[in-house]
Amino acid sequence: MIIYGDYHTHTPYSHGKGTVLDNAMVAKGKGLKEIAITDHGFSHGAYGIKRSQIENIAMDIQKAKQATGINVLFGIEENFTSLDGKIGLKDGDLEFLQIVNVGYHKLTKANSFRDFRELFLPNNLKWYTKRQIEKNTICVLRAIETQPIHIITHLGVGMPVNVEEIAKLAKEKNVFIELNGKRISFTPADMEALMKHDTMFILNSDAHRAERVGDVRNGMRYVIKYHIPDSNIANMGKRPNFRNIKF
Ligand SMILES: [Zn+2]
Ligand SMILES: [Zn+2]
Repeated sequence: MIIYGDYHTHTPYSHGKGTVLDNAMVAKGKGLKEIAITDHGFSHGAYGIKRSQIENIAMDIQKAKQATGINVLFGIEENFTSLDGKIGLKDGDLEFLQIVNVGYHKLTKANSFRDFRELFLPNNLKWYTKRQIEKNTICVLRAIETQPIHIITHLGVGMPVNVEEIAKLAKEKNVFIELNGKRISFTPADMEALMKHDTMFILNSDAHRAERVGDVRNGMRYVIKYHIPDSNIANMGKRPNFRNIKF
């Protein structure tokens, strides 16, 4: 069993160590056909990429494709930025972005003070009340409904949600739920809900060093433990059937 591609890798454009070419070379060495470079997005408060870097990233990607022969996609790992599920993209960003991952990250620039107070502050302080979990869930649901997203990265990590509600909508909208190479917070009950709703998972490394590209052992533990069939893993042995995000 081998994954077709790793759709979550970082480079020094955010805070990864391996360059675009390093990541592509390791991917090729491990037999992957494709990777996505998904540095932290514009709304990240500490190490998000800037729009002025787009041209350089695109050039690095072009060179890495030529040097390795594998397909290298220009992606991003954006952030939830508001209670109603906004993310940090602008009109026009989809002209260069091929993969849009979205996750919860502590150091995100919130859309407004209210979003900071009601989304980031309580989660960062781990005030996980029932009401907070409802707010978190609505944020992710609205994002799936309204934003151009392919993959939800490390769902629930640092921002607990009602996984079952999200599983239903993600399935309907063909949004993939990541089994992250480093951090997975799903409980057995969450996994049961995800399986019940026929979730499409995707195995990614979230590599911040080149040698970790393609390392999906953390997610594979869940695949084995919960008997997730290959047909429910978007990148298992085949190219994922990514949703069309240009809507
Ligand atoms: Zn992340
Ligand atoms: Zn990441």
